[in-house]
Amino acid sequence: MKYVLVTGGVVSGLGRGSQQAALDPYLNTDAGTMSPFEHGEVFVLDDGGEVDLDLGNYERFLDIKLTRDNNITTGKIYQVVPHITDAIQEWIERVAMVPVDGMEGPADVCVIELGGTIGDIESMPFIEALVQFSCRVGPGNFCIVHVSLVPVLNVVGEQKTKPTQHSVRELRGLGLTPDVLVCRSTSPLGENVKQKLSQFCHVQTTNIVSLYDVPNTWHIPCLLKDQKAHDAILRVLNLQGIAREPMVDEWTSMAKICDGLRDPVRIAMVGKYTGLSDSYLSVLKALLHASFACHRKLVVDWVPSVDLEDNTKKASPDVYEAAWNLLKGANGVLVPGGFGDRGIQGKILAAKYARENDVPFLGICLGMQIAVIEFARDVMNLQDANSTEFDCDTKNPLVILMPEGSKTHMGGTMRLGLRRTYFHVKGCKSAKLYGNVKYVDERHRHRYEVNPDFVPKLERSGLAFVGKDESGRRMEILELPSHPYYVGVQFHPEFKSRPTKPSAVFLGLIAASCGQLDALLKPQGRENPFAAKVATSISLAVTKVYQNGHMTCMTNASYYLRTTMACKLDILVLSTTTVRAFCFIVLQELQWKSLLWDFNKEWPAHFVCSKWSRACNVVPLLPFLLLCLPPLIVVKSFWSFGRSGS
Ligand code: GLN
Repeated sequence: MKYVLVTGGVVSGLGRGSQQAALDPYLNTDAGTMSPFEHGEVFVLDDGGEVDLDLGNYERFLDIKLTRDNNITTGKIYQVVPHITDAIQEWIERVAMVPVDGMEGPADVCVIELGGTIGDIESMPFIEALVQFSCRVGPGNFCIVHVSLVPVLNVVGEQKTKPTQHSVRELRGLGLTPDVLVCRSTSPLGENVKQKLSQFCHVQTTNIVSLYDVPNTWHIPCLLKDQKAHDAILRVLNLQGIAREPMVDEWTSMAKICDGLRDPVRIAMVGKYTGLSDSYLSVLKALLHASFACHRKLVVDWVPSVDLEDNTKKASPDVYEAAWNLLKGANGVLVPGGFGDRGIQGKILAAKYARENDVPFLGICLGMQIAVIEFARDVMNLQDANSTEFDCDTKNPLVILMPEGSKTHMGGTMRLGLRRTYFHVKGCKSAKLYGNVKYVDERHRHRYEVNPDFVPKLERSGLAFVGKDESGRRMEILELPSHPYYVGVQFHPEFKSRPTKPSAVFLGLIAASCGQLDALLKPQGRENPFAAKVATSISLAVTKVYQNGHMTCMTNASYYLRTTMACKLDILVLSTTTVRAFCFIVLQELQWKSLLWDFNKEWPAHFVCSKWSRACNVVPLLPFLLLCLPPLIVVKSFWSFGRSGS
């Protein structure tokens, strides 16, 4: 096993996570026991681990599934044994062997991110452990990447290397010598600045990477590749010639599409910690992934829920008006998860506004509970309807504590991690968005739930609980069938959203907010088994991503072709590059491996078909395909027909 250690210097938040098991020096066992003010957002894993949001970056960027063990915290170690440094090393070695990418066997390289900034006293046991560890695994197996900041002094506009020099000195003083230096800066590092850094930090210029500001994060893999950051690391780890060339085509096309997005979709995020955008980082990313799939530029309007309340109207009318203007100017409304009763009334008002005005709405966890309370108060006339989290004496407890474990032991009452939701209403919007699957597995993090005793009354009044757990007692997804898009989910779909696989309910919100929902939900000709497998290009970009990994897509965008194929769409015909798409997918569908192999050789992992030049690669195959295709398709479609029995 080879290891890459990523440390940070000068200030935190330089983006170590967007480049690459995290070590967390906070004195807690997990991030869930800290307030979002102390620890940004909490990220929830499949196994219910509440971890640092850096792990979310790794999951999203690398599309891997981590476990709670991938996050070591000081608390976890102190509680286990007194021999801290040994325990940390053992932990790293053990976790490094656990596969996270769905493949068999451990990965070749384990990336260890050291939290905090070099010099933090909380990190000291970890640094000492890593110094010992680097000696133990020996040269050629350990690479230290130090991420630092090169600020510019506005008066002279000069890039200052001193902070980086100091942090490298500190790192060396502690026993770690950086092999690669990654410098965050507003503009590319000047050649003279690189020379200076090299001279004073003792790192070769070829191993100094300039990580300057880019319009969106999808540019970063290309930025790193262009500067041969991968070569620098491979040299240190003696992996040259063994590792494949980094495949960044997909990121490049995403970066380009993202840069080119013009039409906005405005989402009002009605929450509590709106001053700290990190608090809702995963929700924000999920919104971005979905907006991207709908070819819209995401604009998030942060609406502090307290500002929508009557108290604010009296105390600061301007603030109240500004908040309501933001809400009313949005195309869609999102009420994210949360704890505690501050701002609850404002969230209820936002849900009411969305419900009454047919504005697309998505309520997540607390947001779903809010939607239920609002509905009970306004539609069912239960004025004091509430959650026992906010009023334990309410006569109408619409939301109650429903722990899976002990009722008395608070620490263990949280329902955390992956749980299954079964669809109960065929053809409801969320079921369609998830691809008409029978069930979905999503991550949870809550204690309270919709009171099952009120469910029949709520349903009679028009609220549909379309998704429930296996017992049918826990309400997981609600919908308002009479509304264009009014969806509440008890789980947190944001944690499983990926750039190329947006979360279904987020996609629904964004599509509804920009008028694409009908096209997205339209059945794909199920009555004809062959037609069902063909998507035809239309001017509107519409992607359907299903929980089970399948995706159908209608678009001219080259990027989606690639994504669609990765997700097993059977046939997709693009107006702009019909020929190439057709040939490739039909070959894939027919599993003509030998021909496919040639295709793969031409386009190693990415099938970007925006350029006609590339389409020429297909032309030699064309006469053959034109002759053979019709009979083959007929045979194949009959075969599929018999297999699916539909
Ligand atoms: N506070 C609510 C509960 O515990 C909602 C939690 C959340 O939104 N994550 O059930």
